[in-house]
Amino acid sequence: MGEVVSPVDGARIGEVRGCSVGDVDAAVGRAGAAFERWRDVAPGDRARLLRRFAAEVDAHLEELALLEVRNAGHTIGNARWEAGNVRDVLDYYAGAPERLTGHQIPVPGGLDVTFHEPLGVVGVIVPWNFPMPIAGWGLAPALAAGNTVVLKPAELTPLTALRLAELALDAGLPEGVLTVLPGRGAVVGERFVTHPAVRKICFTGSTEVGTRIMAGCAAQVKRVTLELGGKSANIVFADADLAKAAATAPSSVFDNAGQDCCARSRILVQRPVYDRFLELLEPAVRAFRVEDPARETAEMGPLISAAHRDRVAGYVDGATVAFTGSRPDGPGFWYAPTVLLADSPADRHWREEIFGPVVSVLPFDDEADAIRLANDTEYGLSGSIWTRDVGRAVRVARAVESGNLSVNSHSSVRYWTPFGGMKRSGLGRELGPDALHAFTDVKNVFIGTEE
Ligand code: NAD
Repeated sequence: MGEVVSPVDGARIGEVRGCSVGDVDAAVGRAGAAFERWRDVAPGDRARLLRRFAAEVDAHLEELALLEVRNAGHTIGNARWEAGNVRDVLDYYAGAPERLTGHQIPVPGGLDVTFHEPLGVVGVIVPWNFPMPIAGWGLAPALAAGNTVVLKPAELTPLTALRLAELALDAGLPEGVLTVLPGRGAVVGERFVTHPAVRKICFTGSTEVGTRIMAGCAAQVKRVTLELGGKSANIVFADADLAKAAATAPSSVFDNAGQDCCARSRILVQRPVYDRFLELLEPAVRAFRVEDPARETAEMGPLISAAHRDRVAGYVDGATVAFTGSRPDGPGFWYAPTVLLADSPADRHWREEIFGPVVSVLPFDDEADAIRLANDTEYGLSGSIWTRDVGRAVRVARAVESGNLSVNSHSSVRYWTPFGGMKRSGLGRELGPDALHAFTDVKNVFIGTEE
């Protein structure tokens, strides 16, 4: 860690010191002390503080968005949505403290009640692809449920998380309730996992690191939520609105330069309309605006780093390129949107998460074939189904092993509906009404009433 670089032009935009294990231990100690007070803040007061935090984020929305355009190369339109998403998630979970009710269960000889107890200090580990929303999805429900949070942003993108921590203090959240600790995964992230006072890890990132984290948490039976990789299918049946399916396919995979765990990076097209779909897709890909992400018209910015761009390019070498979009010349880590034809489902670019603006297309024969190909992956995060047949839409949506599916649409994320993966895409769900309980443990109390 150290220098923070803009992927837009490679310019140095800041310097952030990485925390040491000693820094983490001290911060976890302070978060543990803050927990004793935070859990006892009256529900209405905790809710009010979270609403004030949301209002601070809203008041600084443009500043946060511009910071993300610089630090992560996100388009200004996306970055505004991302800052707004932090505000909305805080507001949504601000409704939780007064509603975190347990059960009263009929038993003989007394009264039986359950409580949703907070866990203590929660460690949130964030990747570089969506620094703001993913921070918010972890910290907001954790704080609402009465936990305190230590949060590690990704090495490449620490700036917005550090600013959010300042805004939390400005909003009146007590010291130690939310602490942002930038630093290396192998130092700060690993210490969250091994520190006994960190009672839960909420991790978003690669399946490889997530698997290691889960193994580390097992040693302490530490709670863990994992949001990992994806290789989602976009299934286009012959009866679909082909024009709409083709027009929307580019943004479903090239948004955020394809650095999106939900990217629909495998397009399955029913054989009779395969050629026509590609004909319609080509102009949409060529028209996709890859440009300075600060421009209001930008639909895609650069990749996060030179190393990542080289990794993405490695998937295209030797593959069958159908057509590509454009990219600006000059500095910055640019890569043009690229459409590949898969020769078979064994192709490396069909199987592995590329995490860049590269999509693979493969024909299929019938519904059973589409389901088999869609499920032939270790991942199960997202996906789309295009058909005018409602019965088929429901059958396929039930059969595809994936946590988030859209029919005749590509939407995956709403803060009030659950989000998460099946298979090796993750464990547990974020957002929506249930996420709160991932930050609590149920306690059962029996009170004897017999004289
Ligand atoms: P990554 O796994 O390399 O890093 C994620 C975070 O973990 C970073 O903060 C990193 O510093 C930290 N880390 C690295 N090694 C660690 C260790 N040994 N112990 C603890 N923490 C450690 O992932 P990335 O490259 O930053 O992000 C890209 C990946 O994230 C992709 O696979 C993508 O699909 C996934 N992702 C998933 C979701 C989802 O919701 N399912 C959302 C966004 C991104």
